[in-house]
Amino acid sequence: MTTLGTPLSPSATRVMLLGSGELGKEVLIALQRLGVETIAVDRYPDSPGQQLAHHAHTIDMSDPEQLKALIQSCKPHLVVPEIEAIATPALEELEAAGQVRVIPTARAARLTMDREGIRRLAAESLGLPTSPYRFCDSLDELRRAIDEGIGYPCIVKPVMSSSGKGQSRIDSEEDIEGAWNYAMSGGRVSHGRIIVEGFVDFDYEITLLTVRALDEDGAVRTHFCEPIGHRQEAGDYVESWQPQPMAELALRRAEEVARKVTDDLGGLGVFGVELFVKGDQVWFSEVSPRPHDTGLVTMISQWQSEFELHARAILGLPVDTQLRSPGASAVIYGGVDARGVVFEGVDEALRIPQSEVRLFGKPESFVKRRMGVAVAYDENIDAARDRARRVAGCITVKRSAIQS
Ligand code: AMP
Repeated sequence: MTTLGTPLSPSATRVMLLGSGELGKEVLIALQRLGVETIAVDRYPDSPGQQLAHHAHTIDMSDPEQLKALIQSCKPHLVVPEIEAIATPALEELEAAGQVRVIPTARAARLTMDREGIRRLAAESLGLPTSPYRFCDSLDELRRAIDEGIGYPCIVKPVMSSSGKGQSRIDSEEDIEGAWNYAMSGGRVSHGRIIVEGFVDFDYEITLLTVRALDEDGAVRTHFCEPIGHRQEAGDYVESWQPQPMAELALRRAEEVARKVTDDLGGLGVFGVELFVKGDQVWFSEVSPRPHDTGLVTMISQWQSEFELHARAILGLPVDTQLRSPGASAVIYGGVDARGVVFEGVDEALRIPQSEVRLFGKPESFVKRRMGVAVAYDENIDAARDRARRVAGCITVKRSAIQS
């Protein structure tokens, strides 16, 4: 049985989010609705989640000493990583010492913090189908990997990166050096390791949100949301929709892959399993042991969004992954580099029925930074996608005329 306390009192159930961007903010809202005391941690002040949590801390989460000291002083019952760049060995240490429970597990956070841990686990330990791949530490090694079997076209990605940063496609020999240099400039930590993957010529790609939650007997049960389709530009998601129609066999295979990888990672919570699909064939691409950006659509398409599902699952509460309506999301990018921007056209956007807008409240905008999202529902995904795009299209991000 789960018991929840009263925030800011000795009985409080305390949950710490490591990373408090737009996804963390929604998890924090879901936790606060259940009376959980929340602690938002990020690398910069006034991050979206910090603006609403009970407590806010700004530290370098990749520094093990800072991370340990903060956890030991706040004493959260649960630590919920929202980003990858975290000193995960420190989390493993605290978890092993019984000082904290990490969501889903400290090992899962470590394995998914770079592309190598999770790819080796999926392909080499679990035998799941993936694109052909090699890890390389130099331009020479990259040339050799392509020559010796990866072939063209292929994709180069820094091992430590996300959202398409440093990622590019190689179509011929001339592109190799440029792709290497681009990867070196785009990784999170400049230690120069990349993964080169054979290009999968998929029909479509999905995120299969997979939830590990307790059932009434206290056993872990795996639940699947309807598959989410999405479109990426330069490795970053620009729109998503749910449900993505799938052949029965492909869906069964996708669920099998998702079950295998999430069973291995263990713990409780939402996982975003990314898969490529061609006909009945399915390839594993990646997994986030937390809500996924393409899953923002679930704020309108499901009865319980992926954020509510995560909050419930990690607290040991029951979940319901049912679809409410076909829906779609469209990203609102900054379009300008500026602090304290203003959003024009929100009124016009919200005049479009069956839609909602989330503005994340990020203190600084960059041209390619996700500043908000439009979500919409309709009777089918095409109509929902059109609606979400129109809503997002009404909103313009501008420099503020008001200077401090
Ligand atoms: P990732 O950062 O690995 O999720 O990659 C971002 C996006 O790039 C994916 O969602 C795909 O659209 C595309 N992509 C990544 N790897 C491959 C691949 N091996 N073959 C084809 N497309 C890929």
